[in-house]
Amino acid sequence: MLDRQSATDSISHREFRSDEFWREIPEWKDVSREDFGSHLWQAKNSIRKLAQVKEVLGARVDDSFIEDIGAAFRIAPMNVRITPYVFSLIDWDNPTDDPLRKQFLPIASQMLPDHPYYLADSLYEDVDSPVPMLTHRYPDKVLFLPLTTCPVYCSYCTRSRIIGGSTESVEKDTYGPNPKNWEAAFEYLRKTPQIEDVVISGGDAYNLPTKYIQLIGETLLEIPHIKRLRYATKGIAVLPQKILTDDAWVNALTTVHKKGRALGKQVVIHTHFSSPREITEWSQKAMERLFSEGVTVRNQAVLQDGVNNDPEIMIRMTKQISYMNIQPYYVYIHDMVPGCEHLRTTVGEGIEIEKHVRGTTAGFNVPTFVCDAPAGGGKRHVASAEYYDQENGISVWQAPEVKPNELFLYFDPIHRLNPDAQTRWQDATARRELVRSAVNQVNPDLSDEQRDKIGQRLEGIVK
Ligand SMILES: *Cc1c(COP(=O)(O)O)cnc(C)c1O
Ligand code: SF4
Repeated sequence: MLDRQSATDSISHREFRSDEFWREIPEWKDVSREDFGSHLWQAKNSIRKLAQVKEVLGARVDDSFIEDIGAAFRIAPMNVRITPYVFSLIDWDNPTDDPLRKQFLPIASQMLPDHPYYLADSLYEDVDSPVPMLTHRYPDKVLFLPLTTCPVYCSYCTRSRIIGGSTESVEKDTYGPNPKNWEAAFEYLRKTPQIEDVVISGGDAYNLPTKYIQLIGETLLEIPHIKRLRYATKGIAVLPQKILTDDAWVNALTTVHKKGRALGKQVVIHTHFSSPREITEWSQKAMERLFSEGVTVRNQAVLQDGVNNDPEIMIRMTKQISYMNIQPYYVYIHDMVPGCEHLRTTVGEGIEIEKHVRGTTAGFNVPTFVCDAPAGGGKRHVASAEYYDQENGISVWQAPEVKPNELFLYFDPIHRLNPDAQTRWQDATARRELVRSAVNQVNPDLSDEQRDKIGQRLEGIVK
């Protein structure tokens, strides 16, 4: 036997938590397994307000922690919405360091100022949008956003500009599902024959009522050139009970899946587990149902500080979701959006963790680590930057078949750089010089126009 690290050889990822963990929460100590297992009970008892956090936890956390959460409510760009399932998986004996608490319930004392070059629409989804609710960036695939609500709200959401309703600090045009508003998107798809692939996201497809799962699926399957549909939902990770108890919804999905199959088209689900701590026997059972129906499920995770930026955790999650027949697809370097600077990691860390994960399991179950290049460069392999100034945290990317002749810049979080580099970033002239120098490393012969394009984009977002 080769001498390998324990995470690689361990078989503990085959064990799924099956205890009645919610009974540790004072308010839910008498909730039966049957109630807890109902998606309706989960939705009804979701946590949305500070008062509820306090009420449900009783004496389990002290007042200063509740105040810390309250202070985050006032500045965070995302509202709070947490299913009892996720809420009770949080380790309330140590909530400060808990990876689930970090994702869904920010505390002000951990938050950091946004990077000077962050952007509310960092990925240019609105810029690359030919008609409302549709982003068409890549030649043959599109992103469709038929609604902007979700069963939980992630405090790091890349679409915090529109998702989950206005907060104390951000006004948003959040919208629910309404077929009338989708016609322009459907029409664009009908008349654009190069599109083969539609990501139905949002928001979250879990919040699409049964009839709309079917309406969207069938409308898209009828378009001859569309061959692949993906329903994107974090639901399997945060509310697996719906797959087990909302038969009408699951049947709508499997009906679309079967129709697709009959037409020679793929209908799959993309989900979003970020931590092995989110995985229990409920997740496994939900996946058993979907797998037995023949529905492929893939996973997209975000690399986050204190959540999963550790090779052992990432290996464990990769192996555990693979064991449930979910295919690990992507791990994203964190987007440069507001309110989540404390959760971002560096491109360098992504490269290192990828090295550890690769080789631990089947190659097709090794997720691709990508950086979704700000300003609409699209997803790029994490180690494929044209240039990476690791000391100053600046990477320069190209996307020859997405946006030829453009350069894209990603910036590591400043607090992760060495003290000298942090000082350079405090100075507006110095940081402009750093960016200019990085861009020149890749292409010293940029035209003034190209230079202006990059410069304006960054200066336009300097606060
Ligand atoms: C992520 C994304 C897609 C799908 O890309 P894949 O790499 O195929 O998963 C399509 N359109 C947009 C705008 C996206 O951001
Ligand atoms: S589920 Fe997706 S769209 Fe909804 S808040 Fe989380 S990251 Fe944003």
